[in-house]
Amino acid sequence: MLRSGRGRVLVADIGATNTRVAFVSDDGTVVRKTIGATPREGGDPLVIARTIASMIRTIASEDEVRAAGRIGISTASPVDRMAGSMVRPPNIPFAVVPLADPLGKEFGVPVHVVNDSRAGVLAEVRYGAGRGCTDVVYITISTGIGGGAYMGGRLLEGCDGNAGEIGHFTVETRYGLCCGCGGVGHWEAYASGRNIPSFYRAWLSREGRPSGESSPKRCESVFSAARSGDADALRFLDVLGTINGRGISAVIAAYNPSVIVLDGPVVRQNAEFILPQMERSINTHLRWPAIVISPLEGEAPLIGASLIGG
Ligand SMILES: [Zn+2]
Repeated sequence: MLRSGRGRVLVADIGATNTRVAFVSDDGTVVRKTIGATPREGGDPLVIARTIASMIRTIASEDEVRAAGRIGISTASPVDRMAGSMVRPPNIPFAVVPLADPLGKEFGVPVHVVNDSRAGVLAEVRYGAGRGCTDVVYITISTGIGGGAYMGGRLLEGCDGNAGEIGHFTVETRYGLCCGCGGVGHWEAYASGRNIPSFYRAWLSREGRPSGESSPKRCESVFSAARSGDADALRFLDVLGTINGRGISAVIAAYNPSVIVLDGPVVRQNAEFILPQMERSINTHLRWPAIVISPLEGEAPLIGASLIGG
């Protein structure tokens, strides 16, 4: 699965908020990147493939697409890797989103679709914090929480390409918060960027504190409040650390990795309020892996998309 690249590969990364299209060189360098909003409106899921096609045309000629030889797409969604589609993305309002078929027809090259965290772990193993390691788990905490596992020297995929959906591990039952997938108590329902504010409100309410209009509506506001010394925000981040510690403990129990690479803006921008609180709550039953922040500056899913297929 992890192949040696030659030349440039055309890639796209479909996030819940933004879609990025670029070339990735065989040394992992991202070039000619363009960014646009991920379409969320209307009833036609083909709008996502159409958007990617028009973004590709802004950075590449027909000849350049043909020279690249293939298109790798990473996406913040479960996938059907054989069909090359997104399936029931929890944070994008379409049920099934065909990608490989429409884009393959449009450009005449093979199109490979992978979950963004599985792409992320491939990038870390090739170019980032997992270099030289055979057992690595990549975890991104952004709009949602995703994971990718590289075990025994190969990507762990599962029958559809969805092994490693760790954001849907059940980590809490007292608050009963609902996940975008429809489940209850999932890690993502508490600790993702989208859901931290609602968990904060639920926690304030349980503590008997006012949780009305004044409570933060955005994830970053919770961390800014902590940075300015707000006692409630600081206590809440200890509770959030317990949730994250349970999630990491489950990852360690499931995969026994030597390295866990953390990525995503929630972690990268707030490491001082995430890591110490989380580490206090990790089980000591099994050997602790090294836990490190991704050195790839948010580009791991895009870079990893260049490492599939071929
Ligand atoms: Zn879930």
